[in-house]
Amino acid sequence: MTRRKLVVGNWKMNGARVANVELLDALKQAGPFVAETAVCAPFPYLADVALSLQGAEIAWGAQDCSAHESGAYTGEVGAAMLAEFGCRYVIVGHSERRAYHAESDQLVADKAKTALAHRLTPIVCVGETLAERETGQTDAVVKRQLSAVIHTLAHCISQVVVAYEPVWAIGTGRTATPEQAQAVHALLRAQLKAASEKAGEMKILYGGSVKADNAVALFAQADIDGGLIGGASLKAGEFAAICRAAG
Ligand code: PEP
Repeated sequence: MTRRKLVVGNWKMNGARVANVELLDALKQAGPFVAETAVCAPFPYLADVALSLQGAEIAWGAQDCSAHESGAYTGEVGAAMLAEFGCRYVIVGHSERRAYHAESDQLVADKAKTALAHRLTPIVCVGETLAERETGQTDAVVKRQLSAVIHTLAHCISQVVVAYEPVWAIGTGRTATPEQAQAVHALLRAQLKAASEKAGEMKILYGGSVKADNAVALFAQADIDGGLIGGASLKAGEFAAICRAAG
């Protein structure tokens, strides 16, 4: 099964209107890429990003959405609102949201369900902390996190993108080795296979300090279908090089 690779930039809480346009212009000039590409920007910039990317082969997405449809949820952004602007992807369950906003496995699964209901593709993040890895809990943790999503989405699970992001590798400059990452990706693929006959077509991205110089080896692994890129997605040249590494 050949799966087209996907490289997604997660800008996190970074950017400014003028700088965003410059970044996207440089990215458009560097492309088109063989791999699918997307950028996930902070909410206030999404309409600008959509405008900048009109006609370009680069999709865009959000970094979170509410599990609720609408109503008295001050500060939250609904999947329907994102869909109205032409949003394609939404990251759910990023480790920073799990850690700083106490998002549970079930809440992450509910967000994925709401996103799918509005035809957005959820990018569901899973990953273990350093303490969990060092105490041999990696497999149990990522399986538990994915299991909540599988149970909540049932046969729709095949419509999500999964991102394995070891917490100890995010923003630290410390990357999982290609072998470490592949081992977890294979485990996740097996779990998805037990739930869906379409698991072989699903994309499982790796995230955690991916740079142009380590991307080729990571993306060469059998079950690594691209990357979720944080810091390096803020530099057009570096992000473009990562997109090319996936081609
Ligand atoms: C991320 O934010 O999802 C991420 C992987 O960050 P970084 O690439 O900076 O480690």
